[in-house]
Amino acid sequence: MELKFSEQAYVPFVSVENMIRLVKKIGARRFMAELADVIEADFKRWELFDKTPRVASHSDVGVIELMPTSDGETYGFKYVNGHPKNANEGLQTVTAFGLLARVDTGYPILLTEMTLLTGLRTAAMSGLVGRHLAPKGADTMAMIGNGAQSEFQCLAFAEICGIKNVRLYDIAPEATRKCAKNLSQAGINVVTCTTPEESMEGAQVITTCTADKRNATILTGNMVGDGVHINAIGGDCPGKTEIAVDVIKRSDVFVEFPPQTRVEGDIQQLPEDYPVNELWQVMRGDIPGRTSDGQITMFDSVGFAVEDFSALNYVLAKIKGTDFFDSLDMLADPTDPRNLYGMLLD
Ligand code: NAD
Repeated sequence: MELKFSEQAYVPFVSVENMIRLVKKIGARRFMAELADVIEADFKRWELFDKTPRVASHSDVGVIELMPTSDGETYGFKYVNGHPKNANEGLQTVTAFGLLARVDTGYPILLTEMTLLTGLRTAAMSGLVGRHLAPKGADTMAMIGNGAQSEFQCLAFAEICGIKNVRLYDIAPEATRKCAKNLSQAGINVVTCTTPEESMEGAQVITTCTADKRNATILTGNMVGDGVHINAIGGDCPGKTEIAVDVIKRSDVFVEFPPQTRVEGDIQQLPEDYPVNELWQVMRGDIPGRTSDGQITMFDSVGFAVEDFSALNYVLAKIKGTDFFDSLDMLADPTDPRNLYGMLLD
């Protein structure tokens, strides 16, 4: 099929297959490093964005969410689900797709798979935050939860923060084996561990990325030493947390968008006015990130629409001039705009 990228009625669509081709061409590590820079640039122009907590539809087994935002020129949204029980049924816990549109006409300009892209953008954001908050010279990360997101997290920290050793732990040993195998050629020293405590030995960064629809306690007080950076990914939905309150209280907490994190993040366990630091202010240099060697910093990650907006724009820029997309005939656009019905005649 002829690719009609410039014609307004045809919308470039990046399939899973084409996303794989794009990521392989760029390289996953470079992709995440470049995307981290795009996210940082967008966080630095925070006020421009139309911000709202995502719209969530909860059920007993999971959540389906829409994540919209706009910078005034371009509008984007992601559809994403979170179903921890899916993995036991041979399905992904998290799947996603997303769309970008022009604000001036409302016409879509990109539709793309975002399951792989969410793995890349979540890890790019984690690495970016780690660049601001992880202790200087950090070279070892504990990776607790070795599911779909885990390799992305390890590679982003290697590329963006210089992590050289990852220590893997998961309650499911086969998940740890899978992660270790996938990272075996990545130039990182990978150690598999049989307890969470073992995974934290010598680690300056602790990433928790587990999936369980309950208030789990992956990290408790006596497990966490002073001076570490906690990258808490899996507590991202009401009733779904990973970090014990005593660990949070020992930490300085950094968040994406407080109105969303207070409902969805690990800080949902604390009062509504619990003090947090906003990452856009750290990235702009308005407030400090890490201030001392002994400080425990915690990124209470839930994933915010602006990160997806950055990822969508990054992909749009990268597919220009390539054949990594199909042209979707998804807009009815008659020559005479008032004659929509005429399209059904002849
Ligand atoms: P996944 O189901 O593929 O992997 C989760 C892993 O956690 C599994 O291997 C499971 O065995 C392990 N696990 C569960 N309980 C554990 C425990 N107590 N100790 C150790 N390991 C445990 O899920 P995924 O796609 O990798 O996502 C992981 C989590 O990250 C999910 O909760 C998801 O909702 C969340 N997530 C957050 C963001 C964000 O932006 N913050 C983005 C994507 C996913």
